[in-house]
Amino acid sequence: MPITLLAQPDIEPSGAPRPLIDRYGRHITYLRVSVTDRCDFRCTYCMAEDMQFLPRRDLLSFEEIDSIVSAFVARGVRKVRLTGGEPLVRRDFMALVERIGGHFGAGLEELTLTTNGSQLRRHAQGLARAGVRRINVSLDTLDEERFAAITRRGRMADVMDGIDAADVAGLKIKINMVAMRGVNEDEIEPMMRWAHGRGFGLTLIEGMPLGEVGIDRVESYLPLRKLREQLGRRFTLERADHRTGGPARYDWVKETGGLLGFITPMSHNFCESCNRVRLTATGQLYMCLGQEDMVDLRAAVREGGPQGLDAALDRAMMLKPKGHDFVLDRTDTGPALERHMSVTGG
Ligand code: SAM
Ligand code: SF4
Repeated sequence: MPITLLAQPDIEPSGAPRPLIDRYGRHITYLRVSVTDRCDFRCTYCMAEDMQFLPRRDLLSFEEIDSIVSAFVARGVRKVRLTGGEPLVRRDFMALVERIGGHFGAGLEELTLTTNGSQLRRHAQGLARAGVRRINVSLDTLDEERFAAITRRGRMADVMDGIDAADVAGLKIKINMVAMRGVNEDEIEPMMRWAHGRGFGLTLIEGMPLGEVGIDRVESYLPLRKLREQLGRRFTLERADHRTGGPARYDWVKETGGLLGFITPMSHNFCESCNRVRLTATGQLYMCLGQEDMVDLRAAVREGGPQGLDAALDRAMMLKPKGHDFVLDRTDTGPALERHMSVTGG
């Protein structure tokens, strides 16, 4: 039976904003926005060497991004993460951050960013001024040669420089490391000691089969559940209540005094508590990183204005799937989804 959706006002009769709740009762309070699919790196697990990018004219304008963010904030979204591709390569990026920062006080509680760090030195102070308090910086190795091999064109010194600048600007830093068998698994402990030694959190991520990138995902897959068990024999890991609104589960590491997070989409499905949706740089709203269901918010805003947008958010809630179904199959090493992480926004 088709589901009929009626456009409802943003405000319930009680005066409270009408929240975004999906069919499974999950509250959506977290929006990730990919501001560009482009990047100055070509990390082996994320992109193909000869990645084709979208024409710039297809990207949402800052006005459009802002009106979509406003619609979400009006419906109870409290956290926005800017990502990509590499968000800092989008021209005039700071103007967007300042604009979105304008929603603080109107319901937005946190504005944050995931970056590869290459351009961070230039932007660190501006980010802090615009109200950004925490950032995630992706760093998979502390070895310069490995760094060059993984990113295919990055310079580790730039990233380190960016991290230093962010630290000086007072931004709280979390390092994201995609843990890969045969690539950087021997660096997990050194990375943790380095990150915790500098007062940064470290989150380990399982590689996901998103987009054709020319590497064997099965070969490099490192189950983090097992890794946590192994680390637990060498360190005292205490489950932390700490939640950042994202999918990571955290431990305090007694010996280092730092937080260690695990994002385990493959070895432990965390979809039951998912509170996120993702906007692509061209305005498609994906309700799940690992599924195809989407709503075209650009069309909604262009054709229906604020009301059309609001109704599209209701449609999206009806479409949010129960979860992803990533499996790594030894006989099929290709991607589970054609869409790269850089398109949906990591
Ligand atoms: N360019 C920025 C960066 O690298 O931080 C933001 C976008 S990137 C797509 C966001 C995060 O996704 C990064 O931490 C990256 O390591 C991770 N990532 C990219 N492709 C992935 C994949 N196939 N599986 C798991 N994590 C991935
Ligand atoms: Fe670029 Fe981030 Fe993907 Fe690396 S992980 S290629 S830095 S978007």
